[in-house]
Amino acid sequence: MKYNILGVNVDNATMDEAVDTVSQYLGSKGCNIVVTPNAEILLMCENDHELAEAIQKASFVCADGVGVLAAAKILKTPLKEKVAGCDLGYNLLKVAAKKESPVFLFGAKPGVAECAAKNLCEKIPGLTVCGTRDGYFTPDQNDEIINQINDSGADILWVCLGAPKQEKWMAENKDKLRVSIMLGLGGSLDVYAGNVRRAPDFMIKCKAEWLYRLMKEPWRFSRMIKIPRVVKLAKQELKRREKNAGA
Ligand code: UDP
Repeated sequence: MKYNILGVNVDNATMDEAVDTVSQYLGSKGCNIVVTPNAEILLMCENDHELAEAIQKASFVCADGVGVLAAAKILKTPLKEKVAGCDLGYNLLKVAAKKESPVFLFGAKPGVAECAAKNLCEKIPGLTVCGTRDGYFTPDQNDEIINQINDSGADILWVCLGAPKQEKWMAENKDKLRVSIMLGLGGSLDVYAGNVRRAPDFMIKCKAEWLYRLMKEPWRFSRMIKIPRVVKLAKQELKRREKNAGA
């Protein structure tokens, strides 16, 4: 079941349900896109129609942040829980290891994907990382990247180029790729390479992961300052829906 949260159709699922649904795409003929929007991405969709369209085309859209959950609640369509892309990607790799589905890690600065691959293989016995590639490239290198991914025999592709680049890249290249699932996972490779630490559990439980990120990466302030706008927009949207329902 998807709920329309400020124009973006978000799947209402727990983490377990998300892993179950996304795992079912493994080995499928077509390529399924998984996107992980947070409140910043919802706001970007207001003015970036290419991004909004790319998200609209995804098979699975998870609510990656408390801002999305807050907006859903205001709209009286509460979502079951936050499904962090970073965790969904990891949980899917545990399933992939059991099913012998190889993964390709694409994105981040040179060397990061290799380091993440090493750490992920240590953590997940049986996992096959069949290729890696950094996320800094010129448009004329795109075909070479597609060929590298297809030749690797990957079934799953992590695309970690940050938003909105990764969502647009996935939508644009979907038909050229022979993977069954690709996921847009932002800074996840930095996390699994050990370059960026995730918030401690108590901060995640207190819904303050955003505060930890802000403390560690203060440059995010100019992006995060816009997040309360999600609440304002959700309140306006609720009024509009109630007015329409009453009319
Ligand atoms: N990145 C990339 N290519 C680019 C721009 C960014 O591979 O052209 C990578 C960057 O190195 C980082 C990730 O994309 O690993 C973005 O991480 P961030 O946490 O900022 O993701 P967001 O918050 O945008 O989802």
